[in-house]
Amino acid sequence: MPTHDLFLLHLGRIGRPDPATGRIPWAPVPSYLIRTVGGKTVLIDTGNPASTIGAETAQPWSDHRVDVRPEDDVVARLAQIDLRPEDVDLLVSTHFDWDHCGRHDAFGPAGTESLVQRRQLSVARGGDPRAIRALWDIPGIRYTAVDGDTEIEPGLRLLDTPGHAHGHQSVWVETAEGPVLLAIDAVARRINLVTREVPNWYADPPEAVRTIARLAALAEETGAYLIHGHETSQWDALPHSPAPFRRPEQSAN
Ligand SMILES: [Zn+2]
Repeated sequence: MPTHDLFLLHLGRIGRPDPATGRIPWAPVPSYLIRTVGGKTVLIDTGNPASTIGAETAQPWSDHRVDVRPEDDVVARLAQIDLRPEDVDLLVSTHFDWDHCGRHDAFGPAGTESLVQRRQLSVARGGDPRAIRALWDIPGIRYTAVDGDTEIEPGLRLLDTPGHAHGHQSVWVETAEGPVLLAIDAVARRINLVTREVPNWYADPPEAVRTIARLAALAEETGAYLIHGHETSQWDALPHSPAPFRRPEQSAN
């Protein structure tokens, strides 16, 4: 099986104060860069909007508190591995929540092609308020709708993982460290694997629970290392770019 190079890009942290304690449960905002054996440069999500850099909150996009430094901008993270936005051949949009598509604007001038599940593109175009048009619908970006599980190259495929958002997608990638399942928000936190419960604001909670079961079984059967979308304890234990991904000695799952 061909293997691809994977980098984990740290794009800052977000959180909402706990109403009881006022404490903010900070969660990382990742994106991922894959250099394929076939020579493609694939970016998965773009993280927080540029307006969050140095800001207290993500207003006007969200009331989340933010901790985003200049080096947490996706363009700065790409520069650390000698890449510019125009070097990205494919931008995988997992879904259009503000903290996942917030820097799509950096890829408009390059005319980047973006792969998104048809269902997510259709609800976003239909005016779903979660998909803030000013963030995702960027002149120049060429959206290509994909239907369900889709292979980009052998050992690199998109997985249709709906529920958190309609048409949410995750990514399967074979690396020299073994297979990796970038669950994104299909399994945002480790607790989701334990409780098999999701927040009621998800687009389709029953479907989200079925998706968790599918990904848990897939990781179990294949030995893939599952990376959560927003799990601080896991994220902080993994090497971030410019270092390549390495699987921890003891699985953090
Ligand atoms: Zn998210």
